[in-house]
Amino acid sequence: MKKEFDKLPVFTKALFNFADSKKETFCTPIHDAGSLFDHFDIGKTFKGFLGENIFKCDTSASAVEMGSLLDNSGPYGESTAYLAKILNVDRAFPILNGTSTANKFVADLSVSGGDTVLVDRNCHKSIAHFLMGNDVKPLYFTPARNSYGVLGTIPYTEFEDIDGLMKKYGATKYPTYAVVTNSTYDGIFYNTQRIVDSLKKVKTIHFDEAWVTYASFYDMYIQQSGHRTVPNVDQRIVQTTSVHKLAGAFSMASIATVKGKYNEHLASELFMKYTTTSPFYPMMASIEMSIAMLSEDKKTGSHVFQNTVKNALYLRKELKKEFLKHKAEGKWYFDVWQPENLVENSVWELKPEDTWHGYEDIKAGEAYLDPLKVSILFPNKAEFGIPARVVSKYLELNGIIIEKTNPYTMLILVSASSSKSKIEKLLKTLEKFYKEFEKNLPLKDILPSIFAEDPIFYEGKTIQEVTKMINDIYIERKIEYQTQHSLDVLPEQVYTPYHAFQYFKREEVKTIKLKEIKDEICATILLVYPPGICIYYPGERITSSDSGYLQLRALEEGGKLMPGFDFEIHGSFKDCDGDLCITVISE
Ligand SMILES: *Cc1c(COP(=O)(O)O)cnc(C)c1O
Repeated sequence: MKKEFDKLPVFTKALFNFADSKKETFCTPIHDAGSLFDHFDIGKTFKGFLGENIFKCDTSASAVEMGSLLDNSGPYGESTAYLAKILNVDRAFPILNGTSTANKFVADLSVSGGDTVLVDRNCHKSIAHFLMGNDVKPLYFTPARNSYGVLGTIPYTEFEDIDGLMKKYGATKYPTYAVVTNSTYDGIFYNTQRIVDSLKKVKTIHFDEAWVTYASFYDMYIQQSGHRTVPNVDQRIVQTTSVHKLAGAFSMASIATVKGKYNEHLASELFMKYTTTSPFYPMMASIEMSIAMLSEDKKTGSHVFQNTVKNALYLRKELKKEFLKHKAEGKWYFDVWQPENLVENSVWELKPEDTWHGYEDIKAGEAYLDPLKVSILFPNKAEFGIPARVVSKYLELNGIIIEKTNPYTMLILVSASSSKSKIEKLLKTLEKFYKEFEKNLPLKDILPSIFAEDPIFYEGKTIQEVTKMINDIYIERKIEYQTQHSLDVLPEQVYTPYHAFQYFKREEVKTIKLKEIKDEICATILLVYPPGICIYYPGERITSSDSGYLQLRALEEGGKLMPGFDFEIHGSFKDCDGDLCITVISE
């Protein structure tokens, strides 16, 4: 037993001590601490590259030293109690298949067949998959979008008028469960307790906080995290977060938590429905370690986190400075979406009297921007615009991967790993793009990978010409307007997602070209990635005048006309003519 292991949290300590001791195993996994790989040259390369300890830590669930995931016992059980204590909840469930699975688990725990449920239209597709697998009736909350398509919050008036929502959808049973994405993908938080209190009569409130594990820890998010809320009588709060996204764990690592009344026997039965009987222990240890490190960072004065916030402010201020400088000279530059006054160590309220955020109907105390989620804005006018994809492709070629783009915005996530030098590199690369754009270099030189998609088409064209062509398509098809308004009027729910999906399973469906649609009922989810939010749910009517439909068509045409700039549309596939096709219910 190594002394340095003593300070590790309970499960990780047990695992490392186990891995460090020699065992003769007659059980799975049969790579036996990686020794199987030694018999093959390719195996040696594989093991050599990954390092031998990861294999030693990958051991059987039959090893008693780590306790059991399935009955929450031993060091594993102690670890879940430790996580629950740190996160200030009654129960924590490490989930080894992402928040995609954590969401299905907590939703399943909260509803039964025939229930009515409240669903944020901004939610992740895992919730859509839950709805497709469970016979429940969803009523949708409709979040705001500004003219840039930045994903805003659900107006609180919607939380306060559930009866109105029930009437709109013809629901007869009062909802038992509500799910809200907090923060939105673009980093806008709610006041979580206000939601819990507005929805007092709803038994389970689910905050999907996939992107913001850190919000449970630091003071600046005191009103923004589900973990900080107190449930009302007979209510419970469930929360899910991708510990792998912004807290350092291995990919696929997630935590689901429960606060308030719940049934342990039911919860553990459902946990088993969604989990594996062969857990990858290094992943479990990475969940425990990430939470332990956040907790320690907070205790020791937020050393790492404060530095992260500082770096985010640095990026914001530098960009704004350049923007203003260029503007004064009558030139364009990248702008940042943020309030004028960047108060340090605080989230920034989107106030009704402010215009920077572009949400018309927002009220006081509703929405707050996370300083760590930086949206960069691009020129978006008919006479001059730069679609964000042009720049994100350029960054990619220069070794910088950003989170996502909207038509004219780009989202940068600043995290503990965004060192000042990394931020400098981003700033320099943006500046380099600016210069090469202004020099109007051939596309071939600036974006060779796009050029390679269709050399004949792109031959002789310059970066400004290509950018203008994309901008013209976006302007002509009003892509910003369609994105902003794609949720204004939600499509008619002809069948619930569950019932619509049964048609697909029975294959009572047909495929049809997107461009030929006049009036059909969707059999799948249809979602544009990025940002990854469903435009249609199964069972919804698609008509050729919907904003959502027009947005899809604009992206299809844009992708077709401009090779290399297409978007991924989940639920569609290309036929042999290169047209997008989707699956609809055949009646
Ligand atoms: C990423 C994400 C998920 C899914 O999480 P995974 O850990 O990738 O499975 C769920 N909800 C939201 C809001 C997300 O952003």
